[in-house]
Amino acid sequence: MGKKPFIVGNWKMNLTLAEGVEFAKSLGNNLHGKNEIMCGICPPFIFLKDISKVLEGSGICMGAQNIHSEINGAYTGEISALMVKEAGCTHVLIGHSERRHLFGEIDSFINAKIKTALSVNLKPIFCIGETLNEREEGRTKYVVKKQLKNGLMGIDNKCVEELVIAYEPVWAIGTGKTASPEQANEVHSFIRGFLTDEYGKDIANSVYIQYGGSVKPENTKELIAQTEIDGLLVGGASIKLESFLKIIDAASIQ
Ligand code: PEP
Repeated sequence: MGKKPFIVGNWKMNLTLAEGVEFAKSLGNNLHGKNEIMCGICPPFIFLKDISKVLEGSGICMGAQNIHSEINGAYTGEISALMVKEAGCTHVLIGHSERRHLFGEIDSFINAKIKTALSVNLKPIFCIGETLNEREEGRTKYVVKKQLKNGLMGIDNKCVEELVIAYEPVWAIGTGKTASPEQANEVHSFIRGFLTDEYGKDIANSVYIQYGGSVKPENTKELIAQTEIDGLLVGGASIKLESFLKIIDAASIQ
């Protein structure tokens, strides 16, 4: 599709602040002048401010791993879209499968979070994907369509253009099992088709669709070579600088 690959690392609940800062510094040094790719990292909330300072001027963007759907209020322990924006985020993961499955987040809550993120100019990385059961029962497309429809309900065309969609089959996250490039591309095509039907071809083509699920240096090239895969969302392999850099390198050479 002629887009620069967009590679994002999701650190989840890993690393110390010192390790994260060191990682961000080295990442910036290694990517200096590398214009053929876009890169981002999603550190834990409490690292955001420090890492944002390190990333300044590097061209590497920073995302939060979550936000609440409300901008402020009595939500003990939660973090708002404005807070992560103030800490330097341009992006935010919304609807990650760990949030859906471990913390019971449902489509309507995810939809509200996407709207809130957009309202403060944070770009959502909207995660969707089927479980192993759903795939085995032949319900992958049904599930993905339902997540898209519910997650994007009431969001207008202009806002949809701001989104990144991450297709992350739940059975491939943190399991070492990657969807084959063909399996991933088939679902990506389906997502692109959905966006075309709902918002038109131009918007559908401009939306980045990332693949996520046990991405590693060894499978990056094949995945990114797929026509409908515009980028990658990387979990486990993004917390080691060496493997994240190898993924970025492999995605840059096409
Ligand atoms: C993720 O957390 O979004 C993810 C894809 O994890 P992993 O790469 O470890 O499967």
